[in-house]
Amino acid sequence: MTLGLISKKKEASDVYSFIFHSEEDFGWKPGQFLMYRVEHPNPDERGERRYFSIASAPFEKQIILTTRFDRERGSSFKKVLFGLPIGSTIYAEGPRGSFVIDDPTGNCVFIAGGIGVTPFRAILLDLDYQRLPINAILLYASRTNDIVYKEEFDQLAKRHSDLKIHYIVPPNYLDEIAIRKYVPDLAKLYFYISGPKPMVVDFEELLPGMGVPAEHIKRDYFPGYDRL
Ligand SMILES: Cc1cc2nc3c(=O)[nH]c(=O)nc-3n(C[C@H](O)[C@H](O)[C@H](O)COP(=O)(O)OP(=O)(O)OC[C@H]3O[C@@H](n4cnc5c(N)ncnc54)[C@H](O)[C@@H]3O)c2cc1C
Repeated sequence: MTLGLISKKKEASDVYSFIFHSEEDFGWKPGQFLMYRVEHPNPDERGERRYFSIASAPFEKQIILTTRFDRERGSSFKKVLFGLPIGSTIYAEGPRGSFVIDDPTGNCVFIAGGIGVTPFRAILLDLDYQRLPINAILLYASRTNDIVYKEEFDQLAKRHSDLKIHYIVPPNYLDEIAIRKYVPDLAKLYFYISGPKPMVVDFEELLPGMGVPAEHIKRDYFPGYDRL
């Protein structure tokens, strides 16, 4: 499908959202992603295609792609994406992915590493829009206090007393100690982990040893980031 760029929004010092309109009426589940193709001359070895979670909930009627931009070492794909004029079109395929909430009434723990927070924005805004109770703990690790979506998340937490959000910034880290501190009754909860691949793999190994049944763990990992 073809997506038209409507606007860009700065979310944090090096993170931007790209807001697209689709001519085609297509549906997606919060937590799913699209494959994007941005054609450009002389693409680097990482090529012209990337996957990005849809950071918007379906009721917003827009596709939001939020991503980090490394000005010095960024890929040719990101350089072209960041330079796209409003009104430009790009190609996308999807939606794909099963990183979706199976039981909206269940008690969940959302573990987000950096820009891995994008699917949780869609999931949380959708639950709020549907007026469902949000029984969730969001553990959100960020490299700095410049936290992507913080204002929107804080508004949600004000409206939902059972949504607990913990922003974890250095010198604190999202690790076993943080899990034990913020998450009670580990065995009863459903864990959704999203972030850089090394972080997701660490949690997949850690959580079963802490008593979380393997079937209570879902993950979405973002290749291409070696840190938060
Ligand atoms: C299902 C899914 C959903 C995703 N959702 C999102 C999302 O919502 N937002 C998002 O930002 N990303 C998301 N990603 C990851 C995304 O697809 C890209 O892999 C990521 O943004 C890195 O982009 P880039 O390769 O253009 O690198 P850049 O962002 O331009 O660079 C990232 C870092 O890669 C390092 N790097 C430099 N050279 C290389 C190299 N040759 N190979 C690898 N790394 C290098 C640098 O340290 C640089 O800081 C998702 C991935 C998947 C699979």
